[in-house]
Amino acid sequence: MKAGATRAEVEAVVARIREMGLAAHEIPGATRVAIGITGNKGALEPGPFQMMQGVADAVPVSKPYKLVSREMNEATTVVSFPNGASVGGEELAVFAGPCAVESRDQVLRTAEVVARSGARFLRGGAFKPRTSPYSFQGLKEEGLKILAEARKATGLAVVTEVKDVETLPMVEEHADLLQIGARNMQNFSLLEAVGKAKKPVLLKRGISDTIQEWLLAAEYVMSQGNYKVILCERGIRTYENATRNTLDLNAVPVLRRMTHLPVVVDPSHATGIVWAVRPMARAAVAAGADGLMVEVHPEPEKALSDGPQSLTLPEYEQLIGEVRAIAAIVGKRV
Ligand code: PEP
Ligand code: MN
Repeated sequence: MKAGATRAEVEAVVARIREMGLAAHEIPGATRVAIGITGNKGALEPGPFQMMQGVADAVPVSKPYKLVSREMNEATTVVSFPNGASVGGEELAVFAGPCAVESRDQVLRTAEVVARSGARFLRGGAFKPRTSPYSFQGLKEEGLKILAEARKATGLAVVTEVKDVETLPMVEEHADLLQIGARNMQNFSLLEAVGKAKKPVLLKRGISDTIQEWLLAAEYVMSQGNYKVILCERGIRTYENATRNTLDLNAVPVLRRMTHLPVVVDPSHATGIVWAVRPMARAAVAAGADGLMVEVHPEPEKALSDGPQSLTLPEYEQLIGEVRAIAAIVGKRV
């Protein structure tokens, strides 16, 4: 739609799409609204839409992923949060905190440092998808309550993982941003469920998934009407085993061309080892990422999960100083 299109003009286009038996997706942008059409089997004639009032252009999307594609929306989507933070704009979003919520003290101590650093998001898993059934599985609802308390104390927005459809309502009640973990990237029922949720979604890349598979997973979420999706590159499994995973930094510029969704990088899971986290975090910001997700723990040696890749609080503060300098060069700020 044109930048100045009226509400009535947008609604007329939506109504026309529905009359054709198709689904209309109104995707808000910084200056204009894009309306995606799905459900069509073949190509649609753009002419009749181009003639409608308020329409800037009607373009067939040539890719298998539609609503997430850059063709759909030329401006990068900015996802905003109740605490005033945003992802996808000029602000470099920092999501920091422990891998898992372990105690009130651990989370509140970390949250205080995270807030002081200028970051706007606290991360922490309450439901942990662990490789072994004998590993710490998370504090579950109690963990969510601790995160909510930390939000109240610091003003940070909370991101935490949704492990399954059953616990989604409970997580949605406490979280500001719903994280879909790498292991669940192709859990299509879960993707559809968060697609019906009201809160934004942070979709991590699957352990062995291509960028196209990842974008189709995001398409699942958007197809259900939730257009607030953030992609998170967290490393992929390759033949290289010197690090836990291989950070695919190529994904940052590649995704910029393919999608309008914001892209953040998680150097903690991507490397799995603390000495590699800061260099790769700096590289991600230099590559143009919209944000960073980093694991931070007051006592990494005592962490119940992912201790070896967790920054100490002073290491985290040092990282933010470095990232702030690099962000300025690429037109972002912390
Ligand atoms: C996490 O963020 O703690 C996590 C489990 O990440 P991933 O799903 O990327 O492994
Ligand atoms: Mn972790």
